[in-house]
Amino acid sequence: MIPGQCSLCYGKLQEGKTDFLAQAGGEAIVIKDVPAHICEQCGKTYYTVSISRKMDEFMYEAQTKKLCMQPVPEEEVSLYGQIPAKKK
Ligand SMILES: [Zn+2]
Repeated sequence: MIPGQCSLCYGKLQEGKTDFLAQAGGEAIVIKDVPAHICEQCGKTYYTVSISRKMDEFMYEAQTKKLCMQPVPEEEVSLYGQIPAKKK
């Protein structure tokens, strides 16, 4: 559930994208361009249910497949699937 306004400061929420920082296996992971609702005033980020579910799946994969142990540039980490094949 995305509230119409920020639950902290009652500021207006705007659709946008954010970087999600997480930890898996002791490594920091950055997921770029995560769709989110961001408070105009305090910057608090809200995720939709489907996005948080994606995040959970991603984190699960990151933990189980040791994704984080690979030297993957952070911009190649995609919320919507596996690491894309190398472009030629
Ligand atoms: Zn706020």
